[in-house]
Amino acid sequence: MQKSVQKLVNDGKMLPLMEEFYTIQGEGYYKGTAAYFIRIGGCDVGCHWCDVKESWNADLHPPTDTDVIIENALKHSNVIVVTGGEPLTWNMIPLTDGLKEKGAKTHIETSGAYPLTGDWDWICLSPKKRMLPKEEVSKKANELKCIIYNKSDFEFAEKQAAKVSGECVLYLQPEWSVRDKVVPMIVDYVMKNPKWKVSLQTHKYLNIP
Ligand code: SF4
Repeated sequence: MQKSVQKLVNDGKMLPLMEEFYTIQGEGYYKGTAAYFIRIGGCDVGCHWCDVKESWNADLHPPTDTDVIIENALKHSNVIVVTGGEPLTWNMIPLTDGLKEKGAKTHIETSGAYPLTGDWDWICLSPKKRMLPKEEVSKKANELKCIIYNKSDFEFAEKQAAKVSGECVLYLQPEWSVRDKVVPMIVDYVMKNPKWKVSLQTHKYLNIP
């Protein structure tokens, strides 16, 4: 990458854009809400069940002018979900400042593995065992979404729930490839521990991105 482009990326004025699309948020608190998704490339958390492994290598995704990303997004929606990859790999300040200046609501989906940048209306924290979330992200999370792949993930979810605020909404979500096995476990767990709610990847059932 040219030095000048690298500097713009470091400053958050360009971002490695993987894809962007207008759809329905399928998961968590805003499930069912129309939103524009901006998927930023780059993630080194390395979850073995990750369903967007093609996002990992940021070099495969062209550095894109943040102002252009903002302009495109606002043509479609004023609810903007920034996801990845791990968006906090990058400086999110210019992106969220630009979106909020135009009155948009800024949502992020993050593992919390990197320091929090940007001005967010909604932080969905989905913590991962391989790189634990930063304390500041746990404290500010509006929604905690723990992915259940096997039984031990319930214990991990409880440890993460102990770190978020009392207002944070708690979700357990089956990992898609093992959903048939883990959904009954989640249903049973939530009935016994009703501080948790079930989140499903409804966009996959609806066959939308
Ligand atoms: Fe994939 Fe998200 Fe895990 Fe990164 S943090 S490897 S994008 S599931």
